[in-house]
Amino acid sequence: MEYEAVIGLEVHAQLLTKSKIFCGCPTEFGADPNVNTCPVCLGMPGVLPVLNGKVVEFAVKTGLALHCEIAGHSVFARKNYFYPDLPKGYQISQYELPLATGGYLDVEVDGQERRIGITRIHLEEDAGKLMHEIEGTVTGYSYVDFNRTGVPLLEIVSEPDIRSGEEARIYLQTLRTILRYLDVCDGNMEEGSLRCDANVSVRPRGENRYGTRTEVKNMNSFRFVREALDYEINRQINVLESGESVAQETRLWDTGQGMTISMRGKEEAHDYRYFPDPDLVPLKLETAWIEIVKRSLPELPQEKKERFVRDYSIPRYDSDVLTSSKALADYFEACVGEFPQPKIVSNWIMGEVLRMLKRDSGEIEECPITPHQLAELFQLLEKGTISGKIAKQVFEEMYTTGSSAGEIVRSQGLEQVSDETELEKVIARIVAENPETVAKYRSGKTKVLGFLVGQVMKETKGKANPEIVNRILQGKLTS
Ligand code: ADP
Ligand code: MG
Ligand code: ZN
Repeated sequence: MEYEAVIGLEVHAQLLTKSKIFCGCPTEFGADPNVNTCPVCLGMPGVLPVLNGKVVEFAVKTGLALHCEIAGHSVFARKNYFYPDLPKGYQISQYELPLATGGYLDVEVDGQERRIGITRIHLEEDAGKLMHEIEGTVTGYSYVDFNRTGVPLLEIVSEPDIRSGEEARIYLQTLRTILRYLDVCDGNMEEGSLRCDANVSVRPRGENRYGTRTEVKNMNSFRFVREALDYEINRQINVLESGESVAQETRLWDTGQGMTISMRGKEEAHDYRYFPDPDLVPLKLETAWIEIVKRSLPELPQEKKERFVRDYSIPRYDSDVLTSSKALADYFEACVGEFPQPKIVSNWIMGEVLRMLKRDSGEIEECPITPHQLAELFQLLEKGTISGKIAKQVFEEMYTTGSSAGEIVRSQGLEQVSDETELEKVIARIVAENPETVAKYRSGKTKVLGFLVGQVMKETKGKANPEIVNRILQGKLTS
């Protein structure tokens, strides 16, 4: 029998506000344990939460970018459960009346557009973090760090519209790019500021009803999302094929073993005894204010990608790479602003710039070469002051030293040699030194020209103008 996978994702995104959702504590990552806490986020008796306005703005921005309906009236609810990382004994979340509903996200899978429904987006607070080992050592004790309690989270729940592990990965990546464009989440999966739980089931192809689902947790990279889902889909198919049924449960992705492992039976909503939080009034948003937020939305990745193809006449592939982050797109546009040959700029950024950044695991924000400096390099190349080969060498030098292209070319004497009399002399010598190769050329093996050009380049330390060398050399050989 042929099976089809059905996947819905629940994504948690930590919002980039300076302070927590219901108190003034900082949200920074990596502070000493329990430093960023106060009576409110520690859940002391008698304290009252106060909603952070910036959190609401960020959530509305995200809702609008994902084509959701923004609720004029939403309500915070208590989700009750006990765990040592949750000092209040409940998490403030939204349940029956979330902030945003009914949106969608378009993703491109194998060159085809797929629309994934967004069921809801709601606000909630993060829990603390349990540490079962200290600097890699198991001590026999567990420790708790409350710095993360009360950090604002956005939960983005998709419809069960996703059909493969790869599609889930692309959905998550596309969503992350949007969150980063909006500047509402840094999208760092390793640090946990973007987390994803996946609900998966399988059904015979053609069947309308959904099968029993499992929920897979603990996938902290894009690759793990795809691998965990592919594994889980296969596992469920095998369970059904052997005549058994899939148990509704929560499973963990075990990176080491490359498999999902049963963690616990699935809890139901009624287990949490949700009820409206009496400490917080319902959140009312005026249409006029939502309009203002809407007008503040930046150009989103999809629109930017299309504009780049249209306005700069670059291939879709280039546009895809260049708009993968807003900072990279800005860098490209700044370069094109000073050197208006988009395809050349695109080739250099996709090639040299990204190669060096990848080597150093850096982002474009950390690129030591400014767009202005890169444009200067292009101008030297365009004017023929340096050759293409030397340009790459100069580029690496710029990258490591931060010096400008002009300085490097001047101080190292890298100007391209286009002086014909000077080149004539070198070529005459190379021709004299290589009688056999010359004879081969004259007998019709014209491919050896490349070797002779190479010798001239070597002699001039790569500075000879290759076009002129080719012309003079060919002239000499055929005369
Ligand atoms: P819960 O909060 O208990 O996990 P939700 O109703 O919020 O339940 O659903 C969570 C996710 O599960 C959603 O993304 C939804 O699309 C997905 N989902 C629901 N039913 C199925 C199913 N049978 N197979 C796969 N995914 C499902
Ligand atoms: Mg769930
Ligand atoms: Zn606090």
